[in-house]
Amino acid sequence: MKTVVIVGSSLAGLRAAETLRLEKYENRIVIVGAERHQPYDRPPLSKKVLLGEWEAERISLRKAEDLDKLNVEWKLGSPAQSLDTEKRVLTLSTGEKISYDGLIIATGSVVRRLTDEPDWKGIHVVRTLDDSLALRAELNPGTKVVVIGAGFIGLEVAATARARGCEVVVLEGAAAPMMRGLGAEMGHAAAMVHGDNGVTMAFNVRVTGLAQGQPGHVGGVNVQDGPMIVADVVVVGIGVSPATQWLEGTSLTLRDGVVCDETLNAGVEGVYAAGDVCRWYNNLYDKEMRVEHWTTASEQGAAAASNLLAVWRGEKPKPYSAVPFFWSDQFTARIQFLGRCDGDETPHIVVGSPEERSFVALYEKDGLLKAALGVSRPRQLMPFRKLLSERASFAEAMELVATFVAT
Ligand code: NAP
Repeated sequence: MKTVVIVGSSLAGLRAAETLRLEKYENRIVIVGAERHQPYDRPPLSKKVLLGEWEAERISLRKAEDLDKLNVEWKLGSPAQSLDTEKRVLTLSTGEKISYDGLIIATGSVVRRLTDEPDWKGIHVVRTLDDSLALRAELNPGTKVVVIGAGFIGLEVAATARARGCEVVVLEGAAAPMMRGLGAEMGHAAAMVHGDNGVTMAFNVRVTGLAQGQPGHVGGVNVQDGPMIVADVVVVGIGVSPATQWLEGTSLTLRDGVVCDETLNAGVEGVYAAGDVCRWYNNLYDKEMRVEHWTTASEQGAAAASNLLAVWRGEKPKPYSAVPFFWSDQFTARIQFLGRCDGDETPHIVVGSPEERSFVALYEKDGLLKAALGVSRPRQLMPFRKLLSERASFAEAMELVATFVAT
């Protein structure tokens, strides 16, 4: 294997390159990135960077000297445009063609925008460092901010905007905040801290369009069955889609992501995927899934690289079958979640309570433990990771809970 190309210069791509070097692959590595920046950490974009506590340098994922030691050819600011898996050639938007022996697809996701979203000032998304800095410049005390979408981006941005002294309204299309991640009941319970801090939230809202204020500047949000909501700034946080457009027409199977087997192989020899873009078969849950969170991107980047090398060396690749994990900081609440919520589990609060803004909830289905949510309870949440990785029963989980009470 003379050349490994990694498409995507964020966390998953970086971890893939580091793993190749760690496992003694000494030949050429090329990393292709759509953004012009070296790899940086995204979680602070909606928190410390947006707040103004951290500057851009603080979120570099690695020091310049550590990146130099990786001995990688960087092709930044030049997104991949197409792929020929038979000839093993990648074409960049600049027209440059790169031949590869191994390929790791880690292109992440692209933000969704509103239908017919106008091109006015004051309308923002938060996906990249440039997005975060542009929004930060407009979050001043008294600014009226309307956030569309009460998912993780929407609620983290809402908390940060309040901390900067803005007036904040959040409009959500679904019945609850963070519903996709936590389910309706626990979504409401985990988001109570927003009400405490003066964020106004509305659910089951259908946004029909944006209204213009000053010429060329947003002035409000139009909703069905209600008056226009005045806004100086609108943040669109309505989710993301896997960045697979450049792979259309290739032999890879695309179905809300690049479809991969349990080892993250994309169905073609030498081609693997990792991170937001990867829909893989998770043995632990006996099904295909795609996870859009930091820990999965980091672990899958490493696993994809390791398996690419293993197959090339004639060894057996290992399945990637982990318990998904994510966290979100909103005001004083540290929300942490282990496992997977498909919406048909029953949550039970087993420690603390939503009224205390501090609790642990266990999600049960068919007598099994499926997931665990902690709000500002890290010590009592983390022991459930082991039980989830062992497909423990709900009864076993409750035995663990009993030990908390005993101690
Ligand atoms: P998200 O978590 O999918 O939330 C988007 C929310 O917007 C959903 O509740 C969605 O409801 C709602 N929505 C969709 N269309 C809408 C509309 N037209 N009007 C009002 N609401 C609408 O996505 P996100 O918050 O935008 O975050 C983007 C990505 O970054 C995600 O992958 C997320 O996991 C990641 N992220 C993670 C963290 C973390 O782990 N702490 C923090 C920030 C971001 P439906 O689901 O019903 O469409």
